[in-house]
Amino acid sequence: MKESDTAISQITLMKQKLHAAKLALDEITTDRNDKLKTLIQFISHLSLACKGQNIELDNKLAKLRHHMHNFEQIDDALPELIDIERLLKAQYSHTMSRLEDSRLGLTRVIRQIQRINSAPDKLKKEITYFKQDLGKPFHTVWEYIPKVEKLIFFYEEILKQEISGADHYDILPQHIQLARELAAKIAEVEFRKDQRDQILVIKEVLLGDINVDGLLEAYQTILSLLLDNIAREKTASQDFLFALNDALTIVRDVVNNTYNNSQRSEQLKGQLNKEINLRVNNADAIVVDIDNITELKTQLTVQLSSLRDALSRKEALEQREQAILRKSIDSMRKELNAMSNEANTYKEKLFEHQKLNLLDPLTQLSNRTALEDRMEQEYRNHMRYKTPLWIAITDIDHFKSINDNFGHSTGDKTLQVIAMALKNSLRDSEFVARYGGEEFVLLLPDITDEHISLMLNRVREKIKNIPFKFKNQRITVTLSIGAAQVMENETLEEAFERADAALYQAKNNGRDRVVIDI
Ligand code: GH3
Ligand code: MG
Ligand code: MG
Repeated sequence: MKESDTAISQITLMKQKLHAAKLALDEITTDRNDKLKTLIQFISHLSLACKGQNIELDNKLAKLRHHMHNFEQIDDALPELIDIERLLKAQYSHTMSRLEDSRLGLTRVIRQIQRINSAPDKLKKEITYFKQDLGKPFHTVWEYIPKVEKLIFFYEEILKQEISGADHYDILPQHIQLARELAAKIAEVEFRKDQRDQILVIKEVLLGDINVDGLLEAYQTILSLLLDNIAREKTASQDFLFALNDALTIVRDVVNNTYNNSQRSEQLKGQLNKEINLRVNNADAIVVDIDNITELKTQLTVQLSSLRDALSRKEALEQREQAILRKSIDSMRKELNAMSNEANTYKEKLFEHQKLNLLDPLTQLSNRTALEDRMEQEYRNHMRYKTPLWIAITDIDHFKSINDNFGHSTGDKTLQVIAMALKNSLRDSEFVARYGGEEFVLLLPDITDEHISLMLNRVREKIKNIPFKFKNQRITVTLSIGAAQVMENETLEEAFERADAALYQAKNNGRDRVVIDI
């Protein structure tokens, strides 16, 4: 009886536990389903946001939404995801290549606008900056739209001028436009000192009223100057290699001679040692064998004199050996010194050359080419050592108004001051480059999540506190900054896009601020 009571109470206890477990499971399932439903709803909205880019993708996404709508059929939707992912990837690269085409298209249009010679100088300058800005790749459609708007603005300004003025457009002939473009291009190339006067003359001709023949002649002259430079560079490298080869041949000969000499000396020394040993042995034998003291003296004197003779020959041999060695070492040292001097000059030249190609001429900061190199390098370090890496993009606020109100040369000076201040606010391991007109990119390794905002706000404040004074007016120049940390399995380009989006947000939120994408 007692036993069955115990069994019953145990069963009751187990039943209660089972019930509690069931309740807990129901709660977890409800919670999971709620979350799943929220996620599905989100996916539906996201898929709607993608609508209109590609019909196949639209159809697939509609099907996906339908499957997801019916919660029970969710499993049917899963195989679709592989196809959709493929389409999304293809769509992304398609969009990117379309954006690139659009960028090139805008560049072509802007070159046409540049031919309108009667446009006001200020507008012409803005058009030039705009064209330079078009050199940067677009990452999103949102970068493309403001560019189109700006282009429309340029057209509008030119139209206004046409409507208000009696004169018709003064259109630059194409060869004049090409001549101006060539003049701008050669300003970016570093020519040799002895070529610079000639280049100045060509530049003046190019910017003047040049005809087609004159332009062709200028092209030809510039081309031959450039080819000459390339040939000289090549000859310089070849000469250096020849000199290096000659020096190595001399060093090798010296080493061979020293080796041969020392082998010969070793033989001679061996012979002399043998002779010395013989004389000493002879002296020993004489001491043992000869009883007559006078005879002994005579014999010993002979042996000693031979011994002295052998020793002095050995000494002379050693001295000669040393002299030869000293001479060889001297000539090797001379040869190596000459070589190392030549290598240093060569290295300096190369360094200068590289520096010129990697520096922005206006601000003396690194340019975009240098930025790309450094990005690769920092990314490699980040992947290898798993250290944090931040990328920050900064753009001066309302910079155009500085140009508009105080002139472009004041704008240029402002850019120089800000560039220096940016550089000076960074540590040695950090890097800044001029990315475009009034945009700079910072690469910041080894900064923690807690410090990045502090650090960037310090930079922002520093620029804001520069006491600019234009036309006796105190002006505050501010920056907007967007930053992103390179995440696991993310490329630097992807992080760059996030930083760019953060910058866009900083501008939209009122400028003069830092936005960190987290
Ligand atoms: P926002 O706050 O939205 O960045 O306004 P913004 O006026 O700075 O930006 P926007 O992109 O409209 O204009 C950038 C201007 O920068 C256009 C041009 O006047 C100026 N700019 C670009 N490159 C140079 C340059 O090399 N020198 C000078 N002086 N101005 C430049
Ligand atoms: Mg800008
Ligand atoms: Mg700006």
